[in-house]
Amino acid sequence: MTIAFYDAAQVEDLLDYPGCIEAMRRAMIALSSGERPQPLRQIFTVGKDQMFGTMPGELAALCTFGAKLVSVFADPTLPGRTRHQGVVVAYDGNSGAVSCIADAEPITKIRTACATAVATDALARADAEVLAIFGTGVQAEAHLRALPLGRRFREILLWGQSPERTKELAEEMTRELGQAVTPMAEGRETAGRADVICTVTSSPTPILLDEWVKPGTHINLVGSSYLGPAEVDTALVARARYVADYRPGVLAQGAELKLARDAGLVDDSHVVGEIGDVLAGRIAGREDDQQITIYKSLGHVVQDLAAAAYLQTRGRADQ
Ligand code: NDP
Repeated sequence: MTIAFYDAAQVEDLLDYPGCIEAMRRAMIALSSGERPQPLRQIFTVGKDQMFGTMPGELAALCTFGAKLVSVFADPTLPGRTRHQGVVVAYDGNSGAVSCIADAEPITKIRTACATAVATDALARADAEVLAIFGTGVQAEAHLRALPLGRRFREILLWGQSPERTKELAEEMTRELGQAVTPMAEGRETAGRADVICTVTSSPTPILLDEWVKPGTHINLVGSSYLGPAEVDTALVARARYVADYRPGVLAQGAELKLARDAGLVDDSHVVGEIGDVLAGRIAGREDDQQITIYKSLGHVVQDLAAAAYLQTRGRADQ
């Protein structure tokens, strides 16, 4: 078997957002529907602001297994920012041969936002019309592209710690989306106006507080992917109906949940299930229009394997 290689430019070209959204929907259902138990990711520190993660796993529904190998290093060209560099290695589940190696950086960017779009469609109120993004980095940009493909929003708000960067990204994305993205100065006001909130920062401490969030809001917690930084306070975790991307992962490595558990506010049963269970109709999503819902995204390798499979399908079709 020959190995298909996809560099960053090819991934950007072939992994279109609408196709990736559908691939994520199927992958998350598969993850929650009889896949074998998946190993948890391992992360270790290789230097100051430098980590290395290995994420092995299987997507039996697509007859593939493999791993993402990814470094998370501070970006010397953009102080305060990090890069997620690495490869996704996908194997053929029948032969055991490597079928595909692809640049992990654009895959991580696109698949994470597309998975959030799927979760939002499943958990947000039917009449949700104001989207707020907290963060102005790579994931903020990808979420601004992906979320409006899953739901139509009347208003899109953007909050970031740097007013200059917030204004710059808002202007850039307004041009790209053909819809106004409004830069916001205050997190409190941003949250108070929003029906759907995505937190996509690397902030070590909460940038979104319980008292700011109105009833009926859906929140995607994306920015913390290991037992360290927490983007929201424990009261918000406790108030919400809490859905995981992968329950064992979030129980072991979800920082916001751990803090709420340590404070005695919740126990493991607070994670009511996985987004794949909601999508498959096995558990309810939101139970009423007043409920706060949280989708906790740690990120899972089935998303990377599904993206790799999609790349191969599109790559073959283009030949
Ligand atoms: P970037 O480095 O591109 O962006 C980080 C963002 O966080 C920037 O907007 C930065 O602000 C902001 N930020 C950092 N510190 C603070 C703070 N103290 N208060 C407020 N904002 C802050 O990273 P990405 O966009 O690639 O990733 C964002 C986060 O999401 C990371 O923590 C990453 O590990 C995580 N992630 C999660 C995934 C998942 O599957 N759940 C997948 C990929 C990433 P500024 O613009 O001013 O620098």
